[in-house]
Amino acid sequence: MLKKIGSFVFLCLICRTGNLLAQQKDYPIQPIPFTQVHVNAGFWKPKMEVNANVTIPYVLAQCKANGRVDNFLRAAKLLGGDKLSEFPFDDTDIYKVIEGASYAMQVKSNPKLDKYIDTLIGIIGAAQEKDGYLYTFRTVNAKKTHEWIGAKRWQNEEILSHELYNAGHLYEAAVAHYQATGKRTLLNIAIKNADLLTRTFGYGKIEEYPGHQIVEIGLAKLYRVTGNKKYLDLAKFFLDVRGPKGEAYNQADKRVVDQHEAEGHAVRAAYMYTGMADVAALTGNQQYLHAIDEIWKDVVDKKLYITGGIGATNAGEAFGDAYQLPNMSAYAETCAAIANVYWNSRMFLLHGDAKYIDILERTLYNGLLSGVSLSGNRFFYPNVLSSMSQNQRSAWFSCACCISNMTRFLPSVPGYVYAHDKNDLYVNLFISNSSDIMLTAGKVNIIQTTDYPWKGKIDLNLNPAKSSSFTLRVRIPGWALAKPVPGGLYTFMDQNPAPVTISINGKPLVYQTEKGYAVITRKWKKGDVVTMNLPIETQKVIANKLVKADVNRFAFQRGPIVYCLEGPDNRDSTVQNITVNKMAVSNALYKPEMLNGIEVITAEGKSSKRQLNTDQLLETDQSVTAIPYYAWANRGPSEMTVWIPYEASASMPKPAPTIASTSTASGSIKNKRMLKALNDQYDPQDSKDASMPYLHWWPKQNTSEFVQYDFDKPHTVSESKVYWFDDGPWGGCRIPASYKIFYKKGDEWVPVKTTTPYTIAKDTYNTLSFEPVETTALKMEVQLPADNSTGIHEWEVR
Ligand SMILES: [Zn+2]
Repeated sequence: MLKKIGSFVFLCLICRTGNLLAQQKDYPIQPIPFTQVHVNAGFWKPKMEVNANVTIPYVLAQCKANGRVDNFLRAAKLLGGDKLSEFPFDDTDIYKVIEGASYAMQVKSNPKLDKYIDTLIGIIGAAQEKDGYLYTFRTVNAKKTHEWIGAKRWQNEEILSHELYNAGHLYEAAVAHYQATGKRTLLNIAIKNADLLTRTFGYGKIEEYPGHQIVEIGLAKLYRVTGNKKYLDLAKFFLDVRGPKGEAYNQADKRVVDQHEAEGHAVRAAYMYTGMADVAALTGNQQYLHAIDEIWKDVVDKKLYITGGIGATNAGEAFGDAYQLPNMSAYAETCAAIANVYWNSRMFLLHGDAKYIDILERTLYNGLLSGVSLSGNRFFYPNVLSSMSQNQRSAWFSCACCISNMTRFLPSVPGYVYAHDKNDLYVNLFISNSSDIMLTAGKVNIIQTTDYPWKGKIDLNLNPAKSSSFTLRVRIPGWALAKPVPGGLYTFMDQNPAPVTISINGKPLVYQTEKGYAVITRKWKKGDVVTMNLPIETQKVIANKLVKADVNRFAFQRGPIVYCLEGPDNRDSTVQNITVNKMAVSNALYKPEMLNGIEVITAEGKSSKRQLNTDQLLETDQSVTAIPYYAWANRGPSEMTVWIPYEASASMPKPAPTIASTSTASGSIKNKRMLKALNDQYDPQDSKDASMPYLHWWPKQNTSEFVQYDFDKPHTVSESKVYWFDDGPWGGCRIPASYKIFYKKGDEWVPVKTTTPYTIAKDTYNTLSFEPVETTALKMEVQLPADNSTGIHEWEVR
């Protein structure tokens, strides 16, 4: 069934010089650009400042320190040698941080930064080949060619070379830089490159698709800014040439118009859906719309984390099956969250429905914002929803996509606040700001004042240049109507929240709603104040019962903010052993001094511990504290969970101390978190269970390795039980070739005298009995397989 999406509008595009560029179709609803929305207080202002003052300079310095700049210098022959950084897509980190810096300079001018960006652009231009080709990993012509790039240009594009991915980010950066500074330097480089692409790709030319999508979005932007239709045609070609004979991994196993479900690599996918929306808006293509409408429903109904994260599995950084939303092994890449915002903002511009902004807002305040630390210089790549303290923010990743993506995304947040369609003014997000907006009826200044997301009162002060009639469409968030997501994936336990009230100049208003918006049409005059009160209450969210990982659990949500329990706020720094009754009463309190100012939730709950020699759990009443999910992992590694058990069966009681758990673990691997996994007493579901911490020796193969327990005092021991980690057939670890247990006798290691044979089996504990010995230490020697590595989930000693 084809859906009608409302009439496309024709816009006259006027370029900077005032020339009429083209009669151009575009989104029926147009966003108010972030340059016109001046955020002046509240939640996002300090975050955007940290991005401008800390993250952007930090990422620029990291790009320099990690060879990104040298790649361009070497391609430009301005630096000797042929050393390159690790990945052929590393060029994009420079492009993305230029985009972020350009955006930040639009908000606040910064001559020093402007000059440095000019220097970088000079180097990028020098690295560009004569015909426009720009890809440092080939131009440097290193003696040892990177295995991803192929012998000839574009040869490996459909697989791994990322030549077109780099181009896409270049175009986005170029348009941003041009719009921010008016300088054409980077734009000219981008146009030269895009012209090469239009000469190279197309029907009757090279008929190949991008291995990693984004060039479609970049080309659409280039088309908008130049009015040159060949860029739009190329974007459409790159979509149409996709499938059906490629891989699901990069959405090339079907033609794009035949795709109905989200599959494969989540960032690639969401960039593609965004590109399809752009091309649909710019051409009127209904088939693209039909496809992305269905895919959107698939994601929202079955594949969306409560945090707005997408892409559940680390295997292929991909969407999982329907309802496959594991928490501890959640992938939910930061880039995928950013892509999800891009995609949903486009869906809104096409359809004018608030449900897309509901998803956008959920992602923004939770699974996207969690990607950067409060300090602005530590990052998450995957954004898990549960941790045994094995997760920690990093200063940098060799694949730095998420970091540079954050720099460019954050300054653009104000661009999601408002949109307009002729005489309809949409208010989508609640952020204190002042903005001048041009409607058909004339210019309107709007001042928004709010303490959202902590408080639900929003004042909209409207100042039309002259009294005039237009329609204000104020989004009523789904969560305020007990509908946290558009589909049935998540529901609130309390279905009766307080009503949303709206008043005009202090007088209560009876309002109509349409597509999730309160629709207010009237003759507006200077100084009119619309006040909306949203019921910000602590809600308990329940997941669809088909989501196995969330059975017998709930999550706290207040307004748009999803909460988690984290170690530092809870007794013994443990949270995985906590249960909170479904009916528990909770309190909320704003703590300005905590984690840069957060609203904290407390409730009464229980924690449980195992005891020695009995199956009886030791349960203790305790106060339980929850903090906003985005703010976790800013106080060092710790346990964390978003989904809180309300049944004891769903919690993980704290284990009783054992010889192993009180031992000091060491081994031929030095990673402390991996060594901690050895005796953390949490059993995996099977050998391939990657949701629990485990120890592994990958990428080592065919070597002899060891782990060792030094006991807290001499113990008499006679049994060893080991659970191997084996992630075959896809991963690099298998059960070992052999292993052997030794005990410490004086200064010597002596093999134990076994009374049962050594067994090496998957998915179970391998128990070995031996003649009792009194000792202070045990050692396990492990022989790795000839062509694989090995890992250990757990090693018990009795
Ligand atoms: Zn990323």
